[in-house]
Amino acid sequence: MPTVESVKKDIESLGTAGKEQILQYLEEIFVLGSFATEFTNEVKENRFSKGRICPHCECDKISRNGRYHGKQRYICKHCRKTFTDFTLSPKHNSKKDVKQWIQYAKCMINGYSIRKCAKETNISVPTSFYWRHKILDAIRAFIGIGSVGGVIEVDEAFFRESFKGNHKKSTTFRMPRKSHERGVKGSFSKKTEKRKRGISKEQICVICAMDRTGNLITELICKGRMKHTDLERLFKDRIEDEAILCTDSHKSYIRFAQNLDIELQQIERGKHKKGIYHIQHINAFHSKLKKWMDRFNGVSTKYLANYMYWFKWLEIFNTEKDTIKSKNLLIHSHTSHIDTKLKDFRIREAIYV
Ligand SMILES: [Zn+2]
Repeated sequence: MPTVESVKKDIESLGTAGKEQILQYLEEIFVLGSFATEFTNEVKENRFSKGRICPHCECDKISRNGRYHGKQRYICKHCRKTFTDFTLSPKHNSKKDVKQWIQYAKCMINGYSIRKCAKETNISVPTSFYWRHKILDAIRAFIGIGSVGGVIEVDEAFFRESFKGNHKKSTTFRMPRKSHERGVKGSFSKKTEKRKRGISKEQICVICAMDRTGNLITELICKGRMKHTDLERLFKDRIEDEAILCTDSHKSYIRFAQNLDIELQQIERGKHKKGIYHIQHINAFHSKLKKWMDRFNGVSTKYLANYMYWFKWLEIFNTEKDTIKSKNLLIHSHTSHIDTKLKDFRIREAIYV
């Protein structure tokens, strides 16, 4: 029979890596264990931080409507629909245990594949796929496009257009172009990609903007080369007054900055800095994003926005401990009202700003 003293001795004899694993294990027991019981309350507090509202029509005239399967139900006096605290959230109607959801969130923090998430959480692969995008749709609604101010670094990243997915069962899907051979490196294609030189219509342009206080924007804006109008659509009302934009020498930025009357500092090719004006943070962000995306072996374009938001979330909450992150990811994904349905996945389209 182990005693506290004997367990302490055993821990002493472990190496640093082992001790860290023990620490992580204890954190999980205390943080996540208590979290499972508090989950419902925390979600309620966050979802209804301004008072309880109807998830269908946002009306605040609601009343209690009995209990069903142990859960309090409400009815909206305006639209007459009933709902619970979890209606229009990822966990709504899920028969899986809260602990599995926490485990799943933890896998997402680690950036595991659909398959690995399924295995670790003890759910099926299709369920794993469904959970991932339910959570990410909700995270997208929760953090939104955002805004930036002050000194802002902006740059484009390109991702190859992809129709990845199981089309075998589909009777309606037609590949819009000939399939590419597999094995082309990475999903994130550099401007100097081998397959097609320059920027083709088969590349999806993602604009990333970052200010010096850590605000982030990561949005799909177009296919192929971007125009100043694409930039205007994205940034109109999302850049604070008196901002200074730092970009590479792409000429679309010039027209865009003139039209929106923003100060522009362009860094010439091969140059790194103009005093405090540079694009080093956004370049570092892009390398990190590229490296992170590589693990997924190409992402279907219709889900690309969700991956951008996944990474954006991880970057914003970068400094938290992993256990806290898992907890927050789950809470945040249950804060907004989002209606993700499995049957809509097939007809889903890429999300451009
Ligand atoms: Zn209503």
